[in-house]
Amino acid sequence: MNIHEYQAKQVLKGFGAPVAEGVAITDAGEAEKAARMLPGPLYVVKSQIHAGGRGKGKFKELGPDAKGGVRLAKSIEDVVANAKEMLGHTLVTKQTGESGKQVNRLYIEDGADIARELYLSILVDRAVGKVAFVASTEGGMDIETVAAETPEKIVNLPIDPTAGVTEADASKLSDALKLDGEARADGMTLFPTLYKAFMDKDMSLLEINPLIVMTNGRLRVLDAKVSFDSNALFRHDDIKALRDETEEDAKEIEASKYDLAYIALDGDIGCMVNGAGLAMATMDIIKLYGKEPANFLDVGGGASKEKVTSAFKIITADPNVKGILVNIFGGIMRCDVIAEGVVAAVKEVGLKVPLVVRLEGTNVDQGKQILDQSGLDITSADDLDDAAQKIVKAVG
Ligand code: GDP
Ligand code: MG
Repeated sequence: MNIHEYQAKQVLKGFGAPVAEGVAITDAGEAEKAARMLPGPLYVVKSQIHAGGRGKGKFKELGPDAKGGVRLAKSIEDVVANAKEMLGHTLVTKQTGESGKQVNRLYIEDGADIARELYLSILVDRAVGKVAFVASTEGGMDIETVAAETPEKIVNLPIDPTAGVTEADASKLSDALKLDGEARADGMTLFPTLYKAFMDKDMSLLEINPLIVMTNGRLRVLDAKVSFDSNALFRHDDIKALRDETEEDAKEIEASKYDLAYIALDGDIGCMVNGAGLAMATMDIIKLYGKEPANFLDVGGGASKEKVTSAFKIITADPNVKGILVNIFGGIMRCDVIAEGVVAAVKEVGLKVPLVVRLEGTNVDQGKQILDQSGLDITSADDLDDAAQKIVKAVG
């Protein structure tokens, strides 16, 4: 689960991390009051959407010369003018895709005078099986670009889970970020603080880009992107309350109600598969034959007819879907149950696109019989390869 920058900053502030004062607003009429609560004379007006690259982003409805999604303002009037211009408009950034995201909320923040912009993140490094810090002096820009062009400027520091962030670790990070004086002292407390926040709240990513050294020599968390491990949310009611469903894919929200593992993608072939490995293989083979999957969907090992029906409805409700491939290996799952679910769903929502079904395993003959006798226009396939070729051909 992702949260907004202003929420992430509140969480981090709760652990003692240095963040600026700020006020979130959803209505331009609140901008003046919000700005008056801040010290000034520099303010920042920041679009709150679940995507990065806002500063360099472009508003769709405003002309090409309009400023981006993070703006500096030098007076209260300037804050108000920018808030009016930004709210309700669609911001397109490197991370939103072409359709962009509507800005429904702004964060008005006390502006900082920046001496240096740094990069700092904490993530789960699967290669070493540990939580690790990633630090770089090259903050404020795309870390992917830094990694590609100047990988020597990125330091990766795995943390021993039994020891936590030691003095030696904090020193290494301070060195990597070339911190000295007060900024170094700030860093020595900030690194263990951020690690504690990450562990206590079951984060999966905490990215601060940039972490800044201000002209007064102190550190400040200027931007914050936090993702949480959804499987651990049951023990964090405070975090769960921060969820903003308007930022999420409606189909994914619907799927989560039925406990379906569903991720919306950009392609045009809808997939219904059981088992994550088979789902990945199905997506791969669709790509192999030149098409793109519209989703990842794992209905799970022991799905009921109702679950299959709801999964099918979610796929057909996606206007990008030009064809559907059902690929089921019946182990615990029985092929006749899948077939009944598919038939029930098609009868309920109709079928406007080609449907290819490949069944294998337990009760496969009954399953095929149910499909054949349904009178529905379903193409049956013998194996994964055959299924992928048939659906790609049908979609054309
Ligand atoms: P992002 O573009 O979505 O990553 O948003 P950020 O919060 O990282 O802001 C983008 C850029 O705006 C930063 O890298 C800074 O250069 C600039 N910026 C943001 N806040 C301030 C501020 O308080 N003072 C100054 N001078 N610049 C800021
Ligand atoms: Mg940033």
